[in-house]
Amino acid sequence: MLSVPSSIKRKLAAVVLVAAAPTLASAPALAQPMGLPSMGAASGSDLSPAMERALGDLIIAQGRRDPTYVHDSEINQYLNDMGKRLARYAPNHNLHVDVFGVLSPQFNAFALPGGYIGINTGLIVQAGSESEVAGVVAHEIAHVTQRHIARGLTQQKQSEMIAMASVAAALLAALAGGVNVASGVAAFGQAAAIDRQLGYSRDAEREADRVGFHMLTKAGYDPNGLQEMFAKLMNNAQFNMGTSGGNAYFSTHPLSIDRMTDMQNRTQLLDKNQYPSSDAFWYVRARALVLQTIERHDVTRVVDKLQDEGRRLKGAQRSAAWLALSELASQRRQYEDAKRFLGYAREGVKDSPYIERQAAALALAQDNASSALSISRSALARWPNHRALAEIQARALQKLGRHAEAAKFLQEQIKKWPAESPVLYQLLAVNLADSNQPAQARRAMADYYVLTGALPSAMAQLQQAREMTQNFHEQSRIDAEIRVLRTRMDQEKALLEKFSS
Ligand SMILES: [Zn+2]
Repeated sequence: MLSVPSSIKRKLAAVVLVAAAPTLASAPALAQPMGLPSMGAASGSDLSPAMERALGDLIIAQGRRDPTYVHDSEINQYLNDMGKRLARYAPNHNLHVDVFGVLSPQFNAFALPGGYIGINTGLIVQAGSESEVAGVVAHEIAHVTQRHIARGLTQQKQSEMIAMASVAAALLAALAGGVNVASGVAAFGQAAAIDRQLGYSRDAEREADRVGFHMLTKAGYDPNGLQEMFAKLMNNAQFNMGTSGGNAYFSTHPLSIDRMTDMQNRTQLLDKNQYPSSDAFWYVRARALVLQTIERHDVTRVVDKLQDEGRRLKGAQRSAAWLALSELASQRRQYEDAKRFLGYAREGVKDSPYIERQAAALALAQDNASSALSISRSALARWPNHRALAEIQARALQKLGRHAEAAKFLQEQIKKWPAESPVLYQLLAVNLADSNQPAQARRAMADYYVLTGALPSAMAQLQQAREMTQNFHEQSRIDAEIRVLRTRMDQEKALLEKFSS
């Protein structure tokens, strides 16, 4: 029997209730904190693709301020590249896909409306190969392409069907209702908790497996990826005791014997060993572990595990373990250790932007900005698409007081990544403020706030910038920006009203 016993589901639900309680303390439906707002006019059937996207944009803008949203450029860029590589083979063209990391040791992944896909750090850490992660990402993308969210294909009976969109609405209501980000409330965790009551139907799961398998195969990943991930989770003794976190995923993506048989029939003829994971996968996996470890104050146990891997394994897997140890040592200001571990990480592997990023970050942490600059500059010349290197180079220039150079550099990077890296705008704002351009600094800060979903803060910045400037052309440019922002705020408000009752 592959489904999760209901007693465990109830226990899980109880745990989730406790965790979610602070956010819901002021909600009237305290007796049933996972209760969903009624959908009102927006039922699953009339959630148009355009509205689904608008809803997704709104959710993710709020979600980026959630403490569990992973802002790390290396993790998000890696996941996003993987999502885009898979989406090229999706049944519908020009599919919008945005994959981001969620800081949680639990094995889980979820698709929000509009093509936004969250992947827990714990899923990356528990994966044994790149194709296992790709299998889950492909499956989630398939839920998007098949519009399972908008069509409300949930486990609920049709008569009592609650569209998945209402999960989004509940999340949105929680976020919009003044969730205190500083209190460490994890809205994505809450979304997953609400999610858990619903889950996709078995038919939707089989369809997502089939479509996901096609993408996985076409994109050149091991077609066994998803199946291997599931097989491993199920063989995991902890999973059977309900403690590994596998339940969270399987309760929203029900795994049946039929489903496993379908997967096996598709993959049995394929050769498993011709799909080695990229080096990037091992570095990103180790980085996911580092972030999750720092968050959980779990350092000693993880250091032991990584040191064991560093001695036992080979190639990029070994290098990634030492690189993670270097990062953890640097976080604890043990710079001599950090440097030594970095040296071990370089042994027996190809040059890598991940290693150079750590070398530059370590130099910066030790206040050696000129060394950080030269390392990041030559690495970025070799790997111009590695965003984390650009961020370090900008910080190094700033620390050296080379403001004009930093501003020029940042503006070039922003052209390259206009929406992917809010931190570039923040760095530019600091830089402009330091070089005595306060109005420009506020406009850059406004861009930062727009990207992170804090529209009222963006408006305040623009209004301040407007008051500071005497130049007519500058004023009319800012006025135009204010008008665009105001329209967007009105649209969001209307959307929020439609989805919260
Ligand atoms: Zn699924």
